[in-house]
Amino acid sequence: MKECFASRFSLIAGECGSTISKEHYISEAVLREISWNTNIVEIAGAGWQPTPEPKSIGIGSMVSKILCDKHNNGLTSYDAAAKSFFQFLRPRSRLNTSVDGSNLEKWFLKTLIGLYESKVLKSPVPGFSLQNELYAHLFQESTLTFPMGLTIATSTPTFNMGTELVVGPYFNEREVFSYVFKIFSVEIHLPFLALNLSYPQYFRPLHILKRTKDGDFKMELNWKNGMTLRPETYLLLIENE
Ligand SMILES: [Zn+2]
Repeated sequence: MKECFASRFSLIAGECGSTISKEHYISEAVLREISWNTNIVEIAGAGWQPTPEPKSIGIGSMVSKILCDKHNNGLTSYDAAAKSFFQFLRPRSRLNTSVDGSNLEKWFLKTLIGLYESKVLKSPVPGFSLQNELYAHLFQESTLTFPMGLTIATSTPTFNMGTELVVGPYFNEREVFSYVFKIFSVEIHLPFLALNLSYPQYFRPLHILKRTKDGDFKMELNWKNGMTLRPETYLLLIENE
């Protein structure tokens, strides 16, 4: 039987449950949002992909046995924040919403660790591993503190209408110091080392404004520790069709 990765951290995560569950390493509800309910997403940047071209993958196959039932259930509460976040971002969706940024951050942390434990995460640096501190944050109430912590950016303010999910490392020749998730033209950056944290385009918006032909829609983001990395307090996205 495969082992639950939380069993390596039983002092903080508690004892394991009786069975190993086969679960999506990216929450199924979120994959459905990204796929526009087609159950197929385009993936780029996975460890098994030799080239950068995205590949269509059925959601049903994106599963692995990395957590026991008890530890898996303990982390499902973060899925709702991620689902709301992607529901808002999805092109042609029309809703105003409010998302707990700290829960969203935990969801990305859970996903990053899940990808790593499933050996899906590509590392350009041999011997790369995620530090124990990240696992501690996942299983405890604590929030990540600067210079760690989720930030959001957009490379172009207009929407990418695809169902593409790209995960890529930021690295130098010795270390990987963060991963970036890119979905619907929005980049979510989760740094875990303090190196070279000088990306001014990344910050924690207090809200995201989506400008569409039907008017503006707003997602408020609530951060427990209130940190913003730049004086700008919002991110503007433009949907042009
Ligand atoms: Zn467990």
